[in-house]
Amino acid sequence: MPTSKTLPYDIIIIGAGINGCCSAYMLTQAGLSVALIDQNGIASGGSGAAGAFISPKISKAGELKEIIGEAHAEALKFYTTHFPEFTLVKPLLHIANSPKEGEKVDAFKYETHLKHSTIPHAIQALLSEDALHSASIYFDIGAVVDAQGVCKAMVKGIDFYPLKVEELIHREGLWHIGEVSTKHLILSIGAYPKLLPIDYVGLHGIWGHRIDIETSTHIPCILHHHVSISPTTKGGVVAIGATHDVHYSPFSGELYDVEKGRGQLLEKASKTLKLNNINILNDYIGLRSGSNDYLPILGNLVDADATLTKCPNIRHGERVDPSTYIYYPNVTMINGSGGYGFVLAPYLAKCLSDFLVEGKALNPALSPARFFPRWAKRQS
Ligand SMILES: Cc1cc2nc3c(=O)[nH]c(=O)nc-3n(C[C@H](O)[C@H](O)[C@H](O)COP(=O)(O)OP(=O)(O)OC[C@H]3O[C@@H](n4cnc5c(N)ncnc54)[C@H](O)[C@@H]3O)c2cc1C
Repeated sequence: MPTSKTLPYDIIIIGAGINGCCSAYMLTQAGLSVALIDQNGIASGGSGAAGAFISPKISKAGELKEIIGEAHAEALKFYTTHFPEFTLVKPLLHIANSPKEGEKVDAFKYETHLKHSTIPHAIQALLSEDALHSASIYFDIGAVVDAQGVCKAMVKGIDFYPLKVEELIHREGLWHIGEVSTKHLILSIGAYPKLLPIDYVGLHGIWGHRIDIETSTHIPCILHHHVSISPTTKGGVVAIGATHDVHYSPFSGELYDVEKGRGQLLEKASKTLKLNNINILNDYIGLRSGSNDYLPILGNLVDADATLTKCPNIRHGERVDPSTYIYYPNVTMINGSGGYGFVLAPYLAKCLSDFLVEGKALNPALSPARFFPRWAKRQS
């Protein structure tokens, strides 16, 4: 722990997942003094469990697809340029896991500008009949990063405080957390309890499980099918992971059967290809947070009570411009990245840095304030 600082930091970031670490990296690069706080260490939440693929989103046209498209290009460039030792670039084979998804894959193929080609014979020879005959797209370039390694590298040299933040106090223009203080607070706490009364922010958590294994089967590319199966930056180690279907809820007392989870992952992997001589090396279990409308969240936080006192008719459906809302002083949230946290983080952190350093406006479509009017109406 750094010796406690008497001067306020320019920025304190709570949450050392990929969003917190990438923001800390970019803001430090921009010349600001930054402190990072986490209750469990660097990349201990959803970020530590992530497969951390830098994959495009195969979906219909829309704002989310556009943002992830831009973020995907930026992320490939960012990780390969700044953290090449934690980044493995490999082709990526995405196989549809249902006829409905197959339709999306086929549609995506015709409109994407990303380079893709037919599946090489050597890879076809590895695939199960089901995988071979499902709709698929083989991208020439995909990437996977070492989730914990890259987060730790980003925050090297940045003051880190290992503590669980219980309350946030704002006094004399500064936010105080224990012995440290700052003008500007960033909340990158994923799907953990929110720290401020901001129930309107529509977030949900999904647990996921990844295993690292050794296998005598050579995996020549990144595969997404029923689960993701991928080579990693750690020579010879193959990662298998999923968030869908492999979730549990320890917060409600439901315990997770790790052994059973491993079995499910391996069974799903076997639907794609046969893995021989498997030795399980590690389990990673983590909570990822997604927003209720699937768009990521980046922006300042509305003070709900103060805003409803100022504009009580929002409760009855009156439309009020978000610039009229009252916001907590200098608190920005970065969150809600769903299954694309590693893809979105460099893009979101750059927007955040441009906002804080150069005063560039944030995209209002990503603002947490977007959830406020609907929530307020439900309070009436
Ligand atoms: C199995 C799995 C596979 C995934 N695969 C991919 C993938 O291939 N590609 C991809 O891009 N994304 C993937 N994701 C999603 C990605 O991991 C998340 O989107 C990303 O981790 C979100 O990062 P974050 O920084 O917002 O949150 P988190 O990583 O959850 O970080 C939040 C941090 O805040 C800390 N915190 C919370 N409250 C407090 C408090 N009161 N005091 C102190 N600290 C606090 C927590 O300890 C935690 O470390 C995957 C997720 C899982 C679970």
